[in-house]
Amino acid sequence: MKCWCGSMAEQLICNQQVVGSTPITSSNMGAFPSGQRGQTVNLLSVTSVVRIHPLPPEKDDCYAVVFFLYLVDLGDTEVNFMKERIIEAIDNNRDAIISCGEYILNNPELGFKEFKTSEYVKNEFTKLGIPYRDNVAITGVIGVVGDPNADINVCVIGEMDAIKCFEHPNADPITGAVHACGHNAQIAQMIGAAYGIVKSGVLNECSCKITFLAVPAEEFAELDYRGHLINDGKITYMSGKQELIHLGFFDDVDIAMMIHAQALTPAPRLFMNGSSLGFEAKKITFTGVSAHGSEPWNGVNALDAAVMTINGINANRTTFKDSDRVRIHPIISNGGDLVNVIPNKAVIETFVRGANTAAIVDACNKVDNAAKAGALAMGASCEIENIKGYAPLMQDVTLSKIFEDNALEFIGSDKVEHFMDMTGSTDMGDVSAILPAIQPTIGGFDGALHSKDFTIVDKEFVYLTASKILACTVYDLIKDNCAIARKIKSEFKHEK
Ligand SMILES: [Zn+2]
Ligand SMILES: [Zn+2]
Repeated sequence: MKCWCGSMAEQLICNQQVVGSTPITSSNMGAFPSGQRGQTVNLLSVTSVVRIHPLPPEKDDCYAVVFFLYLVDLGDTEVNFMKERIIEAIDNNRDAIISCGEYILNNPELGFKEFKTSEYVKNEFTKLGIPYRDNVAITGVIGVVGDPNADINVCVIGEMDAIKCFEHPNADPITGAVHACGHNAQIAQMIGAAYGIVKSGVLNECSCKITFLAVPAEEFAELDYRGHLINDGKITYMSGKQELIHLGFFDDVDIAMMIHAQALTPAPRLFMNGSSLGFEAKKITFTGVSAHGSEPWNGVNALDAAVMTINGINANRTTFKDSDRVRIHPIISNGGDLVNVIPNKAVIETFVRGANTAAIVDACNKVDNAAKAGALAMGASCEIENIKGYAPLMQDVTLSKIFEDNALEFIGSDKVEHFMDMTGSTDMGDVSAILPAIQPTIGGFDGALHSKDFTIVDKEFVYLTASKILACTVYDLIKDNCAIARKIKSEFKHEK
């Protein structure tokens, strides 16, 4: 008597090896709760429960009923499944996310005046059940989800402020405010990521905090207005992220990320690991003695002191290393009041930019020396006012790689560029000096930044795909008890 089914079952029990593969279909999905439909999984081992039935008298054989328990090594399947849920949650809320970007586009507000934007963000947080703090640094909104006692806090940032460009067709006719730097897309991305994280349920499986931050005033602008806010005690620093650092908000943040628009790049593209220049702003006031324009020997010409200062700065340009990318671009904002009066007052305003802090400090010292020399040469005096600018942006390499890997799910690797340096500056640089941070830039935008031609051309990519990449990156950081977040945090070196 042979018993082939019994011996087969025995063999299956003993052999812990790949015994086959099967696609996951709608009919067998229940067996693979963490898998995705359409995915082929290997059956790495099979345990069977065998019940040998008595022989029917007329048959020279036995039969067995075999119950298969598939032990499948799903590997990344769990991760992919969660990301599928995140992406699905974002797709299911696409109208809300696009509406967010478009509402803010149509209601542009300048820095520290983003009141309507702030209200919109608060409403979205309320819809998502995200508790928030508002009126932080005047208009900032901070929404936090997850375990309040968790020791890892990942922050997704969107900037709220517009720039001023009256020529732009979308500009507010009264204030000139317009989203010609694409910050409206950032708020949509931050809200989109919140939809993905909250609605997918990933927080049920991860012990962490996730902060969604709508931050005011990234653009270094309207310095007189902000000066008044400082004098009134409403803020201490000129920009939103600087103010939040000052207020201690970032003390509780371990990793921060945001996306910025890339100018003149209508197609979906990704630019990773770029740096920005840091800067210090200076206002130098020269004081001389007024006299009749026809009798300069009776006066001290403050304008000449300013001109000599600019010549001194220019002479120093040969001393700057190319790699430090020092840029000094002064203007004379006051060069006298009347043509037949020797100017007793002149004012230079300038930014001193550089790729690293040491280079900026060195260049600032040279500008100060040039000002003192110009004043001394003319017998004038000078007062140098320093305004804290932004630190250079230094993007975390490990975090960048995770973001890029997630982006590659949506765009080809030939659409990714690395280490393209930005000539401008951002207060995300200040954040990157104190914790691991990234600010990749993406295409989908046309026209130059801050110009009348700037526009979003690919809403699907900049509002929705970017939200998905952000949210999936967050998930990679917080999965497995925040293993990758902890690694990035432990390897971070503070900027000196
Ligand atoms: Zn800008
Ligand atoms: Zn910007």
